[in-house]
Amino acid sequence: MQKNRLLTVALDASDSLVAAIDRLSLSPRQKLAGAVAGVFLTAVVGALATVDGSSASVNAHAVVEKLAVEPVVLGDPTDASFWYQESFNRGDTFGTLLARLQVSNIDAARVVGNAGVSRLLRKLRPGTSVRAEVSRVGELQQMEFITADDRLARIVLADGKLSTSEKALQLTREVVARSTVVRSRLLADVQGAGVPATVAQQISQAFSGSIDVSSTLVRGDRVAALYEVFYFEGQLVRAGRLLAAEVSHAGQTHRALWFDGGNVRGYYNPQGQSMQVGLRRVPLDFARVNSGYGSRLDASGQQWVAHKGIDFGAPIGTPVRATGDGVVDFAGWQNGYGNVVVIRHPGDYTTLYAHLSQFSSGSRTGLRIGQGDTIGFVGQTGWATGPHLHYELRHHGAYMNPLSAALPSGLDLPARQQAQVQVQAKALFAQLDAARQSTAVALVD
Ligand SMILES: [Zn+2]
Repeated sequence: MQKNRLLTVALDASDSLVAAIDRLSLSPRQKLAGAVAGVFLTAVVGALATVDGSSASVNAHAVVEKLAVEPVVLGDPTDASFWYQESFNRGDTFGTLLARLQVSNIDAARVVGNAGVSRLLRKLRPGTSVRAEVSRVGELQQMEFITADDRLARIVLADGKLSTSEKALQLTREVVARSTVVRSRLLADVQGAGVPATVAQQISQAFSGSIDVSSTLVRGDRVAALYEVFYFEGQLVRAGRLLAAEVSHAGQTHRALWFDGGNVRGYYNPQGQSMQVGLRRVPLDFARVNSGYGSRLDASGQQWVAHKGIDFGAPIGTPVRATGDGVVDFAGWQNGYGNVVVIRHPGDYTTLYAHLSQFSSGSRTGLRIGQGDTIGFVGQTGWATGPHLHYELRHHGAYMNPLSAALPSGLDLPARQQAQVQVQAKALFAQLDAARQSTAVALVD
């Protein structure tokens, strides 16, 4: 049986239809179905759509780009309720989130004070989409979101009583291909083309040994990616792994694919050679260099002092990633450095990450850590004038410039596995090529 559900989205006069539909979080297939059926929002605050999505069947209306807001009553005005959907943002409190979800009639402190509710809310991460059913008079009836470990967390408020529940979800996996032409900044451009930030970060990491995609790419360069996405009841829950990517820059095409050979896994080029380096140069996905290696003026501006690392500017809370596989040598507080992590790598390399706001759970002395693992988050603890990451690299105890030093390279695969990569590459890049040439709505070009 097909289940119709009321999805609502607030529209304003300057809102485009596409943006509004995006906020309804329909899958590309549903968007396509909607567009083909010529279906959409009446000039309403609500739109009916089939959540399990085989055929969207709603009042047929012409598709228009701009929609004027005109409240329309659907059904009995006294007991109608609406579902609203909003993203939980960094800096949000439960109260500000509720306000955006159109909940006005509530004692937020009482809700948060409930032990079960506060336990669930601790799982709410920035960027998570939250849905709430709200009565016509602004009372919260229920709210739900999907946790980082793919569980549906729900808070229900009925007859003044709060209850909570959590259950594991069966997610549907799909593989999506998208490509875009770089206009200004890579991150903004690929996100504008609908590529999730986590996928953009994986693209950046996959090529980090050969091309710095966040700073090298220029207008007119092309980026294409094939990656996993996970849906629950037709709603996009999260992106998964980047499976293949292609970057065209200065007349050259760089290709990378994910290979999982059991004992080894990582990004390889289509010939089966490792794209990874033993140590990456930069511990952040997207960063600018605030202060380079060597010497710089001290705070008074009077004296040159040695700077034995690189300062990367990034907002507080940006994940800091281990630049190579290794073991945590130290994670704790040191004067000047503030919260600092030191990792010991094979070949007698050590890396140091300072001024962190927080450590990740894997950042404990003695624990193994993998390249790209989050070890903590950018902050300004210790002697730091603003939020930044101070990063140091040493080889046999001697300081080196992480941006220019010769770094150890990753291991190549045995011949048998190289051949497996080559077979997979053929299939994946054929898919990517086909996607680029198709005119499907799911592909943005
Ligand atoms: Zn520094």
